[in-house]
Amino acid sequence: VEYYLGNIERQQHLNAFLEVWADEALAQADAVDARLAAGTAGPLAGMVIGIKDVLAYAGHSLQSSSLMLDGFKSLFTGTAVQRLLDADAILIGRQNCDEFAMGGSNETSYFGPARNAADPDRVPGGSSGGSAVAVQADMCLASIGSDTGGSVRQPAAFCGVIGFKPTYSRISRYGLVAFASSFDQIGPITRSVSDAALLLEIMAGPDGMDSTASQREVPAYSQQLTPAPHYRIGYITDAVDNEGLNPEIKAALENQLDLLRGQGHVVEAVDFPYLNFMIPTYYILTTAEASSNLGRFDGVKYGYRAPDATDLESLYKKSRAQGFGAEVQRRILLGTFVLSANYYDAYYTKAQRVRRLIKDKTDELLRQYDFLVLPTTPTTAFKIGEKQDPVSMYLADIFTVQASLAGVPAISVPVGEDAAGLPIGLQVMAGAFREAELLAFASLLT
Ligand code: GLN
Repeated sequence: VEYYLGNIERQQHLNAFLEVWADEALAQADAVDARLAAGTAGPLAGMVIGIKDVLAYAGHSLQSSSLMLDGFKSLFTGTAVQRLLDADAILIGRQNCDEFAMGGSNETSYFGPARNAADPDRVPGGSSGGSAVAVQADMCLASIGSDTGGSVRQPAAFCGVIGFKPTYSRISRYGLVAFASSFDQIGPITRSVSDAALLLEIMAGPDGMDSTASQREVPAYSQQLTPAPHYRIGYITDAVDNEGLNPEIKAALENQLDLLRGQGHVVEAVDFPYLNFMIPTYYILTTAEASSNLGRFDGVKYGYRAPDATDLESLYKKSRAQGFGAEVQRRILLGTFVLSANYYDAYYTKAQRVRRLIKDKTDELLRQYDFLVLPTTPTTAFKIGEKQDPVSMYLADIFTVQASLAGVPAISVPVGEDAAGLPIGLQVMAGAFREAELLAFASLLT
C-alpha cells in the first residue's frame, strides 16, 4: 500500500485518482496481514485495487465525475465491490472517468482529463481513463472499470494494459451507476491475464440484488488458463481493411494472425456485413437508455442543487443545466428525441431490430469460430483536445461496440507499441459465457 501511495503521490499530474483512501487502505493492509498470519486470508489478500467513480462503496463519495453528484456519498456497497472486500482486496481510491461514463477520452470529466503515462499530452482513453492509467503507471495492481461500449477495453489499449468486458449479466450491476442498462458491464483492468481471471471469478455470479445477473455457476477461471492446442480464429475483413485503421495497428494485427497460424491454429477471414451500422445503432440505443436512467438526477434527491432556483420547475431545469456537462446533456437530448412519440419507431424500434441482426450474426460467427480477433481501436492514443467534434469521438468506438451490442465477452490485450512509443491493443471476442476459453486464449497474445 505504501508503495502504491508513493506512486500516486509522485504522479498526481496524471489526474488518475479523484480521491485516495490512504488511511483506510493502510488499516485494511494491517487487518489482511493479521489474517494472512492466521491463515484465514481471502483469495485477493494484498491485492491493491482502485475503483472507477461509478461504483458504489458505502460511506464514500460517488460522483461519476460529475458536478451533478457533488457531495453525494453512497449509502450502500455494490455487489462486485463487496465481493472484492470480502476476498480481502485493499481498496486504495476512486478513479477519474468520463462524466457518467459517457466518452472515450476521459475529457468529459468534471475534474478534467486524466493523462496517458506514455505521453501526458495524450488521452488515456475512456471512459475508464483514470482506471487504466492507474494500472499503467503502477498506482495500483488492478482497477475495476465499467464498459458500456468499450470503456474498459479502449483505455486499456491506449495505456498498454489488459481490459476485460465479461458477458452481459456475468457480473451484477447492483451498485454501478446506470448509463445504458442493457449494455453496462463491470470489468477488470490489469497487467496480467491471470489477475483478470481471478478478479472475474471473485466478482461474477448470481445476485439477489440484480435480477438480470446470470444464474450460471462461476467457473474457476484462474485455474483454467492453459490454452488449447487448436483454435478456430476469425478476423473480420472489413475491420482489417477499414480505411480509418492506423497502419501500425493493422500490421500488429496481421502479425498476430501470422503467429497464430504458425502455432497451428486455423485463421480465416470472415464477412460481417453490419460494420457501418454499429455506431448509429449503439448511439441511438445507449442515448435512449441514458435519457431515461439520468431522469433521476433532478436536483432534489442527489448531490447538486442549483442555488438560484425560484420554484420546482426552475429547480429541475437549473440543477440539470448546471450539474450536467455538455456531453451528458447532448446524450440526454438525443435519447429523448429518439424516444419521442413521432420518432420512436423510426429510430429506437429500428435500432432495436438492427441490434438483433448484429447480435445474431455475431453469435453465428462465434459458433463457427472460437474467437474473433480485431483491433481494439482505430488509432493509438490521441492528443488531449484533438477530437473536438463529438461524431469523430463516437466513430472511434467502431471496434468495441460490437461485443456490447451482442452482449458477448471481449478482452483487449497489449501487443506492443507504435513508432512513437504509444501502446497498441488487440481485441478478442468469444461466445457468450466463454470467458474461460477467452482468457486462456488471451494469454497466447501477451
Ligand atoms: N465511448 C463509448 C461512449 O461514449 C463507450 C462508453 C462506455 O463504455 N461507458 O458511449
